Amino acid sequence: MISKKLPSFIECYRKLISIPTISSIDQSMDCSNKFLIDSLANWFNDLGLNVELYSISNTRNKFNLLAKTRNDLGGLMLTGHTDTVPFDANYWKYDPFVLTEFNNKLYGLGAVDMKGFFALIVDVLRNIELKKLKKPLYILATADEETTMIGANDFVKSTTLKPDIAIIGEPTSLKLVYEHRGYIPIIVSIRGDSGHSSNLSHSVNSIELMQKVISNLIRLRNITEKNPINQHTRPCLIVNFGCIKGGDIANRICPYCELYLDIRFVSTTNIDTVNKLIDQILKPITNKWSDRITIETLYPPISSYKCCIDNIFVRKMQKLLNKNLESVDYCTEAPFIQKLCPTLIFGAGSINQAHQPNEFMHMSYIKPAYKNIYSIINYFCN
Ligand SMILES: [Zn+2]
Repeated sequence: MISKKLPSFIECYRKLISIPTISSIDQSMDCSNKFLIDSLANWFNDLGLNVELYSISNTRNKFNLLAKTRNDLGGLMLTGHTDTVPFDANYWKYDPFVLTEFNNKLYGLGAVDMKGFFALIVDVLRNIELKKLKKPLYILATADEETTMIGANDFVKSTTLKPDIAIIGEPTSLKLVYEHRGYIPIIVSIRGDSGHSSNLSHSVNSIELMQKVISNLIRLRNITEKNPINQHTRPCLIVNFGCIKGGDIANRICPYCELYLDIRFVSTTNIDTVNKLIDQILKPITNKWSDRITIETLYPPISSYKCCIDNIFVRKMQKLLNKNLESVDYCTEAPFIQKLCPTLIFGAGSINQAHQPNEFMHMSYIKPAYKNIYSIINYFCN
């Protein structure tokens, strides 16, 4: 029934890993996801699905893909992102773009986060008679989840689809996730003075001033860990310093320094409250150096997410998979997708292997994930 052209699970996986789809706000690292989208489009076409590509404006040639059995009410959406984060070449044991099997693990950039998800879907769909499904099945593949989430945001704004439920296949270790933090990506820029390192008396060193900013933000993290601003059981704010740039050589005073950080907050608080806390903690420094320090968001903040647990389809999913609903600290496209329909997160592989060298999918996840996706489709599309 299915075209013989369709590659095996491992061939699909290998192909997806081999195509760089790094997202970065730094143009020198940012890759278009077009080649990967084209591969998915070919496979979904071969499976007999209707495939639509959406070019996303204000990106560097990025696309979303929607594959569907047909347009109708309800049904199921399976969704994931096509991009990965950048990688530290020196820390990888294997080529990040060659799927490498060792010791029951499949290594590659995006192996868990989240190219494996699409290889699994192709493999499941080849064994389902898609034309006989009573309700529609949609597969959404998005761009730029790892940076701006513009792909999911764009899709949700322009579609009229209303599936009964959506599953995002991020690596949850096959746990069923219904809640996660939001985050605010921030850039702090400091303009200091340049000068000879032998005379510091009249100059402001931007690195030294940045050190004060960092100290206060660490203090904010410590305060909110000890005194959560709500009743959530986990620490309230996670503050991570992701990138710092500044200066050129040891014998010059550093004239410019910038810092990228993100602050993650639980679903019982919100972006405004967190922004006020940041303002407060940095006030002693920003008041004194108002002409030298700029604090901006790197791109629009992402809200936290919580799915309504009383929804009938959420309950059905929970019953079908026989799993508890859990909350996590990492962020997904769920705040956008849930504008269409109740959204849960469920996928193979562990988040502990994401965003780091030697990312791998443990092969023990593959069979159970296949079985689960198979039964989810059969349940919600029939
Ligand atoms: Zn991801």
